[in-house]
Amino acid sequence: MQLATDAAGVSWTGREQVTFTNTSSAPLPEIYLRLWGNAWDGCTSSPVKVTHFSGGTPGTPTVACTALRVTLAKPVAPGKQSSVAFELTVTAPSRAEKFGRSGAYNYFGNALPVLAHRDAAGWHLEPDVGIGESYYAAAADFAVRLNHPASLQVPATGTQSGGLITAKQVRDFAWAAGPFEHSEVTSPGGVKVRTWWTSVVTAGAVAAARTDAVAAVDDFGRRFGTYPYGELDLVLNDKWGAFSGMEYPGFVLLVAPPYGESAAVHEVAHQWWYGIVGNNEYADPWLDESFAVYSTDRFAGDTKPGCWPGDLGTSFTNSMAFWKTHPNSYGTYVYTYGACMLHDLERLLGSTAMSAMLRTYVHDHWYGISTPAAFKRAAQSATAVDLTTFWATHTR
Ligand SMILES: [Zn+2]
Repeated sequence: MQLATDAAGVSWTGREQVTFTNTSSAPLPEIYLRLWGNAWDGCTSSPVKVTHFSGGTPGTPTVACTALRVTLAKPVAPGKQSSVAFELTVTAPSRAEKFGRSGAYNYFGNALPVLAHRDAAGWHLEPDVGIGESYYAAAADFAVRLNHPASLQVPATGTQSGGLITAKQVRDFAWAAGPFEHSEVTSPGGVKVRTWWTSVVTAGAVAAARTDAVAAVDDFGRRFGTYPYGELDLVLNDKWGAFSGMEYPGFVLLVAPPYGESAAVHEVAHQWWYGIVGNNEYADPWLDESFAVYSTDRFAGDTKPGCWPGDLGTSFTNSMAFWKTHPNSYGTYVYTYGACMLHDLERLLGSTAMSAMLRTYVHDHWYGISTPAAFKRAAQSATAVDLTTFWATHTR
């Protein structure tokens, strides 16, 4: 991908090429692009525009203009590779959001078109429901040039060398543009942590987020497998509309105290939960959020005794379709109670066995996709105790 912007960094235009392999046993006649950046504006203003395709023919966008079927010029045989390319313009909407602009600062989270995921169930074209995340993407290699005036700082996923940004085995690519201040430190474990902040963020907030992230990226690396991306960018702002922190590969958006509570450790945990170990965030949001909260608790040394509330008639394992209609319960169940389940599982397995199980689970799904069934198998393989009763009392 090669994109260029104007002096303000609001709008980026260029060309994106997507290369993919048909891993199924049948010819592949089509792909779908996910234009997640259109989720909130739908088809009226479409801040993500794609035109001038080569390698395929686009259809009419669906799912609130977040899904675009592209009929391939020629079906791709099993095991073979093909590409499509297109012109791309992304324009940050005027709102302090993961894809938006606020003052002189512009944020491009979920702005870049990515391939939809296809598995045994077919193409996944789940909607953005306005809360949480609905993403589901394979890990992929990105090579990106972001051409911009020198007056703009442009933190991004990946690592930059000679104007080329590369990111290997990531599920998405995010960046920001604006007159950010920034600093750089290297964690004792060797991860370059770059912190970027807007003019209203205090030095104390910057230092606190940096300290948390440096400690967390090394701690989680020891627990779950070494952080593989080399660099981690923290982007701090005073306000976000609909979230307090948002994770992208090697790049997290954070609210800075005193404007909100820093979620630095939580968002760093997501580098493993959804980032390295992928999942369908729409079908199984607990597979990343409950694990991020549990990991944050472990980082703080908090074992949360007695936090499991008992059967309340609703399971934290519900999908985003359910939470869309129960938005006030989403945080309590998926984040808090799901993490409580993991703390209870740790009490049952023992801390040593739980740690070993999680390390093996991450290893077995490294850059891949996990499912609830896969996690339950991993847990069962770590104990002689039959977990049927445990799951019956903790999920439904
Ligand atoms: Zn989270």
